[in-house]
Amino acid sequence: MSQPAAAPARTVTVRVPAKVNVQLSVGGLRADGFHPLANVFLAVGLYDSVSATRAETPRLTVSGPDAALVPQDRSNLAARAARLLAQRHGIEAAVHLHLAKDIPVAGGMAGGSADAAGALLACDRLWGLDTPREELLALCAELGSDVPFSFAGGAALGQGRGEVLTPLEVGGDFHWVFAVADGGLSTPDVYRECDRLREAEGTGSADTDVPEPVASEALLAALRGGDPQALAATVHNDLQAAALSLRPALAETLTAGLEAGALAGLVSGSGPTCAFLLPDADSAARTAHALTTSGTCRAARPTSGPAPGATVV
Ligand code: ATP
Repeated sequence: MSQPAAAPARTVTVRVPAKVNVQLSVGGLRADGFHPLANVFLAVGLYDSVSATRAETPRLTVSGPDAALVPQDRSNLAARAARLLAQRHGIEAAVHLHLAKDIPVAGGMAGGSADAAGALLACDRLWGLDTPREELLALCAELGSDVPFSFAGGAALGQGRGEVLTPLEVGGDFHWVFAVADGGLSTPDVYRECDRLREAEGTGSADTDVPEPVASEALLAALRGGDPQALAATVHNDLQAAALSLRPALAETLTAGLEAGALAGLVSGSGPTCAFLLPDADSAARTAHALTTSGTCRAARPTSGPAPGATVV
């Protein structure tokens, strides 16, 4: 007797990680408005969950402490991802997307990109499309520079605008604490401030003056070796000065984390979240506690990376 066909899923939920840039080197402003990057991404264990449920008309809801800061209309990156996938397959994007957000919003941890990557995978499975991974990654790149990495997870070197990914080998888990700030920073504002500071310093924002960004061999070796001390000596973020210029109080957060025992502290991406590297899970828990009580951040979250990319749960 043949088995009855399985009923199509009504809801698909995908978990998708935040990222920290262990190296973010920013080249000079190009004529097209973008900066060439050497961007070493590490996915870390703070996750958003994206649920896609069959619906008559498109709908989007958001939960989590920062839900009020997330656009709930067509402009939401997750809604755009669903529309793009539906358009490519010539179908209606009739889906209810629910974003359970744990990644800080506008925090420099690619929360919106994570939701876009999660929505693509969740809708693909809900609609039974089974789009090949390479095609999904190409759609991710259309949605934004950080979206392919959110989809892929692990660790990777991003070149171009950050979207041309080369997966990287990582020799062990790295322990981190993320100090979440009150309020976000706009990524375009931080890039503009970076250009302004470079011009004021006389290093210029034109492509002639700023060296072509390249990945640090020492940093890649530290990742391969799973060596936190070596990684701490090589982490670097070219956007940090700009984020500190726009949000001077972040200097106090960085000092508090270093005083609490971090091997290194840096602004995550365009900020304002600050990332601290620790030698092990126990010291991460202690540093998170010290940061929470320091009054220099809204919350401090211990976690580790590399974390897997978008995963159906
Ligand atoms: P990145 O690190 O990639 O520069 P970010 O982590 O600093 O990004 P996001 O959390 O992605 O910032 O939010 C940036 C802006 O994008 C928000 O202020 C919000 O207006 C908009 N946005 C659109 N869709 C989403 C989404 N699903 N989640 C969060 N923000 C979104």
